[in-house]
Amino acid sequence: MKKYLIIIGLTLSTTLSANAQKFEDYFEDRTLRLDYTFAGDDILQQIYVDELVSLPHWYGRRERLEELPLRGNGQITMRSKADDVVIYRHSFSTLFQEWLATDEAKHTQKSFENVFLVPYPKAPVEIKVELFDYHNEVTNSLTHTVDPKDILIRKAGERNITPFEVLHQARDTSRCIHIAFVAEGYTNDEMDHYLADCKAAIGSLFRHEPFKSMQDRFNIIAVKPTSEESGTSEPSKGIWKHTALGSHFDTFYSDRYLTTLHLKRLHDVLAGTPYEHIIILVNTEHYGGGGIYNSYNLSYTGGKYFLPVVVHEFGHSFGGLGDEYTYGNDDPMYFPDTEPWEPNLTTQATAFIKWDNLIKEGKAGLYEGGGYLEKGVWRGCENCRMRTNEEPEFCPVCQQALVQLIKFYTE
Ligand SMILES: [Zn+2]
Repeated sequence: MKKYLIIIGLTLSTTLSANAQKFEDYFEDRTLRLDYTFAGDDILQQIYVDELVSLPHWYGRRERLEELPLRGNGQITMRSKADDVVIYRHSFSTLFQEWLATDEAKHTQKSFENVFLVPYPKAPVEIKVELFDYHNEVTNSLTHTVDPKDILIRKAGERNITPFEVLHQARDTSRCIHIAFVAEGYTNDEMDHYLADCKAAIGSLFRHEPFKSMQDRFNIIAVKPTSEESGTSEPSKGIWKHTALGSHFDTFYSDRYLTTLHLKRLHDVLAGTPYEHIIILVNTEHYGGGGIYNSYNLSYTGGKYFLPVVVHEFGHSFGGLGDEYTYGNDDPMYFPDTEPWEPNLTTQATAFIKWDNLIKEGKAGLYEGGGYLEKGVWRGCENCRMRTNEEPEFCPVCQQALVQLIKFYTE
């Protein structure tokens, strides 16, 4: 499926950072959920604070807090007001930015929900949100102050928690990657079916390296919100259903693009469960899915491509990997003057190449075509999970990038 991925970067930050700061110096063992509205059109965008939410426990990293593993299409930077040092950074991609590349964004202003999780500060902080364009330029930013004692920060996740089951326990749950599956379009009678789909997806994930040999670093739960109706909405057929997350096909009028735009509802369902990375399983036989870096992975479950698709989309949503296939060459998102932040694509085939070490070892090369373009974007190997559903593995370039990322979160 085509992903309207926007490629962005950022010049190196020269801001002061709190080197080797201790988590306990600045944060409580809680999560601050930041809800924003991103609004506008392809010319002008705005960012607004929607709501702040306090959740029990923090399930993200407790080391390397001021570092970023990947640039992403947007970033959040949290600074301590007392000593003006960066105490946490986070990067992400959004459906809003994908939408900005569509025709609709040329003549309509729309708003999108966005939700991000950061550790809960002990003292007032300044939070900056930035969005980037195709050429590494900041297109929009918002800076606001958060006082952790603000009485209007809504407390959630302390009771009425959505039922969930632990399906795979990490060796050390205090230093692991927390993944939550979420049921979408499964009725109460279909929960056994959902759990079987979760287990099949975990099996598929752990058949792929490097997840296979690093599986003890992952903690995986299945969250079980029930849907009133089975399946998902298919607007092109006039079908709209009442489901837990309000997902639908035809996102941005692209028939196979299955997403949910209801990020707040998604995170309300997850409140109080141990989660950071999200995999939504949609109970439909209609092929589709999508993966947005550090937002969510969503996959159909009712067909023969479910198992490769859920891993491919996890490559996007967790790994920040780009698509290695070509697709029509329209509306390019990669340009010769800008190196993609995705670790498995390059536009600089004659200069420094990200996977130089693998080329020297004879494990990778340079293959033109990727990021939806036949020319001007190169990948490292002939085939990969990020290129076709038939290939059974991630290529060595993607595997290397995933190992680095897993280590970033867990070491
Ligand atoms: Zn690859």
